[in-house]
Amino acid sequence: MGDLKKYEYIWLDGFQPEPSMRSKIKVTDEDTPPEWSFDGSSTQQAEGDSSDCLLLPVQTYESPMYSDFLVMTQVHSADHKTHPSNTRAAADAVVSDEWWFGFEQEYFFTNKDGSPLGWEEGEPRPQGDYYCGVGADNVSGREVSEAHLDACLAAGINLTGTNAEVALGQWEYQCFGKGIKAADDLWVSRYLLYKVAEEYGVGVNIHPKPKKGDWNGSGMHTNFSNEAMRTAGSEELFSSMCDKLGEVHAEGIAAYGSDNDQRLTGLHETQKITEFSYGVSDRGASIRIPVYTVEHDWNGYLEDRRPASNADPYKIIAHIVGTLTK
Ligand code: MG
Repeated sequence: MGDLKKYEYIWLDGFQPEPSMRSKIKVTDEDTPPEWSFDGSSTQQAEGDSSDCLLLPVQTYESPMYSDFLVMTQVHSADHKTHPSNTRAAADAVVSDEWWFGFEQEYFFTNKDGSPLGWEEGEPRPQGDYYCGVGADNVSGREVSEAHLDACLAAGINLTGTNAEVALGQWEYQCFGKGIKAADDLWVSRYLLYKVAEEYGVGVNIHPKPKKGDWNGSGMHTNFSNEAMRTAGSEELFSSMCDKLGEVHAEGIAAYGSDNDQRLTGLHETQKITEFSYGVSDRGASIRIPVYTVEHDWNGYLEDRRPASNADPYKIIAHIVGTLTK
């Protein structure tokens, strides 16, 4: 028997409208994580009389906490077919590695009663001081955010930055990747966020509008490019891509997370959910053409500002690439 290893398997459950994350640890001397199974009747993925579901490893990461490896998996039914809850398969069918993605994941840290971190004395003073702020009265949860950044980097997930966001207790990190792995990495970065926060006794809320009123919601702006956009771009190319995405705006919104109507109101740097627009440097548009792209002779990337913070990155990239390669 070789050295025993602890593989921490991660999967998405069958909850609607958005899946939750699940995990369990397998101890084995195998050098690569084998296929495994779980009780789907406990995760809304199977009936009790035939409850086995299968876990197929898709990416393996060095584990920064406790276990030896984190194993992102996709779910198959007991008959070895893609499970209905498996949104990865559709993305994997269309997204090649020439597509690069940068996700800007926003979220709130919470107390155990669900209130945002830093809001224990009631509603804090209005927005203004918190974005990229410093000082105990301006930020809440920095130590958790920084521990999360370190955990992701130790796992080999390419976080490119993090910052305090516009509301107190709200944070953002940026996660870069190529092809389908970009979405795997984003899911695992979320898993590590929940787990790091757990160690501090803190919760994570990725709902797009946790606090009603004059408080920013949380989004997941999705920056993307392919080879042509990066190296053979033109104003025509970028405009035609925006137009194509605009033609299927409703399908995009359906793929971009639930309760997004509470966030995409036309206020707080958003376009209304019922409208589609794009423009250079326009943070009130559905899709922003970054000034970087224009200044590099129309070589660069686009930023789709519509996805909500709770969106499934597999659905996002399947929609963008599926639309633009049709
Ligand atoms: Mg932001």
